[in-house]
Amino acid sequence: MRGEPYDYLVVGAGLYGACFAERAKSAGKKVLVIEKRNHIGGNAYTENIEGIQVHRYGAHIFHTNDRNVWKYVNRFCEFNRFTNSPIANYHGEMYSLPFSMYTFNRMWGVVTPEEAEDMISRQRASAGIGDPSNLEEQAIALVGTDIYHKLIEGYTEKQWGRSCKELPPSIIKRLPVRMTYDNNYFNALYQGIPIGGYTKMIEAMLHGIEVRLNEDYLENKSDWDRCACRIVYTGPIDAYFDYCYGSLAYRSLRFETEIITCPNFQGNAVVNYTDRETPFTRIIEHKWFDPVDTESTVISKEYSVEWGPGMEPYYPVNDSKNNELYHRYRRLAEKETNTIFGGRLGEYRYYDMDTVILSALGKAGEAF
Ligand code: FAD
Ligand code: UDP
Repeated sequence: MRGEPYDYLVVGAGLYGACFAERAKSAGKKVLVIEKRNHIGGNAYTENIEGIQVHRYGAHIFHTNDRNVWKYVNRFCEFNRFTNSPIANYHGEMYSLPFSMYTFNRMWGVVTPEEAEDMISRQRASAGIGDPSNLEEQAIALVGTDIYHKLIEGYTEKQWGRSCKELPPSIIKRLPVRMTYDNNYFNALYQGIPIGGYTKMIEAMLHGIEVRLNEDYLENKSDWDRCACRIVYTGPIDAYFDYCYGSLAYRSLRFETEIITCPNFQGNAVVNYTDRETPFTRIIEHKWFDPVDTESTVISKEYSVEWGPGMEPYYPVNDSKNNELYHRYRRLAEKETNTIFGGRLGEYRYYDMDTVILSALGKAGEAF
């Protein structure tokens, strides 16, 4: 179909696909990358609007504890020293995130860690929390009822479209709770944003590799399969098998992006709206990820929505029902010996950027 066969056809130009393709090329393999969107980068894609790097599919902050991953990405771009310190807005009261002494001081006027711990344990005891069996109980056990009601309950129910009593405790355990005055959101050794945007970094990873945009592998699968010895598939695993066991569940997002003619709209890259009434979960002001001195600014309001056919699948819903369904697809995938299933959609797994790179580097290491 398309001339000489390739050693690898990589489906998807997100971080997994770009990293695998880069490794394959440097091992002397002939690689073709196809991407169904009209741009590379997957969900990490950034575009230049009015001189500002806009994170089109939501805020992306690179953070890792893995020295090799950090060294690897620094080969393709320079990172700035951005530290993620989101703010929570609860009906106009502004709280520092993650939960730290700044948050406890603003909430209760406490000054020392001992006073904060005392307040939390009193609230936990009066709520009668033992061994937490859902997100609500876990949150109260960690930070008490005031913080749960003001900063967690409304935000979580908007984000997941379900009551906190129906959600697993594990979701809230991702958030650090610190008894120090430290509002760095991530416990990571390395953190930053690529200067000039993620697209520039991923372009550098794909340098010298043939990439074809606006090509959907599944629309022409057998033709594409003929053009390469092996396939690396980073699209949704259920779509690959034509949803033969039914669809996996995802949460989707909708962004309302606008250009505003003021240089500083909210004074921070990320402001979460933690009340129930505000329909969006957060506002991103893109210029503060990679600061630029411009007269205007670009903001995106982020709405969390239930995923349905034709929508972008953002977050896999890794509850037990969907994990079981995924494992049925996984067993089918194991029989496709010529195809590697990788990345967030191919493995139905909430990967961060560093872990997706680590996974692609590992797979490439096994392959050549
Ligand atoms: P993707 O980026 O989804 O790339 C897959 C690509 O495959 C897509 O471009 C898709 O169009 C293409 N594709 C799919 N099917 C086909 C097909 N049939 N034919 C051709 N092409 C196809 N991680 C962090 O480390 N820090 C963060 O701050 C962070 N924030 C995030 C915020 C949001 C809102 C979301 C959704 C994710 C965030 N992540 C973050 C996670 C990060 O986006 C992922 O780790 C990363 O994008 C995964 O890369 P991937 O290549 O697996 O998937
Ligand atoms: N969360 C919250 N209030 C906030 C921010 C986060 O209650 O202001 C909860 C929410 O349940 C979310 C979880 O903490 O799903 C993890 O937050 P994180 O920012 O890690 O979520 P992500 O957007 O990365 O999935």
